[in-house]
Amino acid sequence: MNIKSKCFGCGKFFDLLKQFTFCPICSGALVSEGQETKKYFQYLLKKYQWLSLGEGNTSLICLENNLFAKCETQNPTGSFKDRGSLLEVAFALENNYKTLVFASTGNMAVSLSAYCAKAKIKCRVLVPKSTPPEKIELPKLYGAEIEVVDGNYDLAASLAIKESLTGKKMLVGDYLLRRVGQESCGREIAGEVSNVDWLIVPVGNGTIFSSVTDGYFGSAKNLSTKMIGVQGKKCNPVFRAWKNNEQIVPLVQPETVGAFFKVGNPGDGNLVLDCLKKSGGVIIEAGDEELIKAKKDLARNYGLLVNYASASVWTAYDKLLKKKVIKSKDKVVLVLTGR
Ligand SMILES: [Zn+2]
Repeated sequence: MNIKSKCFGCGKFFDLLKQFTFCPICSGALVSEGQETKKYFQYLLKKYQWLSLGEGNTSLICLENNLFAKCETQNPTGSFKDRGSLLEVAFALENNYKTLVFASTGNMAVSLSAYCAKAKIKCRVLVPKSTPPEKIELPKLYGAEIEVVDGNYDLAASLAIKESLTGKKMLVGDYLLRRVGQESCGREIAGEVSNVDWLIVPVGNGTIFSSVTDGYFGSAKNLSTKMIGVQGKKCNPVFRAWKNNEQIVPLVQPETVGAFFKVGNPGDGNLVLDCLKKSGGVIIEAGDEELIKAKKDLARNYGLLVNYASASVWTAYDKLLKKKVIKSKDKVVLVLTGR
């Protein structure tokens, strides 16, 4: 089998069965490469269909005339992460991994531990000290082993990488497999609504943004859709790189009410910049007060319950409509990533 991954940074090719996280040479994001690789993923999803918890095929609802929301909150554990977890756990079973290890600030832990429970494989989660107890409760319910790390998310992530190198533990998280699994969200949008002018997706690590972009443009008929990204104000490395037309400079202490945004060094940041460039899109930032207001607006105006980072798409829509970047006649899809 010729199943390949390719580094988005240095362009090197690898055997995907061995390299499916980040580039061992330059630490760049790995992307999947070639038709055979695509077929391998289709084979995995078919063989491990029994692993599904009913993820995907979420509703696309109409909020106003030309404004739609893709409700990823309807996934089994409440976020888009379930789409990626299915493929990661299927890959783990196929390649005889008995334990998964990863760092998480919340949603990822809930999602992966649910799929690991069904697959009956061990799930080890490293969480930063600041993680609220209620975020640990659900993964524990699913039987995950939680280790609280005396430090921030970036430290938890580096410890998870270290642990995966010792013994046969599979490192999972916002990497290639998850990105491929989550493309289905973009494909569904392309099939559900035509002639979209703007597609708005939040940017934390950048994984869901690049997944949706790849999935959408891989199947949409209208290729003139423009992407809009949103980041939290005090965790905005991708926004700053885009605005100043420079390299991404990691942040040491990202701060925001949106847990999903708290990534100082976004692994898929360069993929996001590429998607923005190719689609002629924009990225903006949203402060805590705006996120709190957006969460309230979505609940009170449309009955939608989402988390703060997810609500940021509403802030972006509102701001860009006022600035007349988005015209009132434009067709817009907001991706509500999670609860
Ligand atoms: Zn590389």
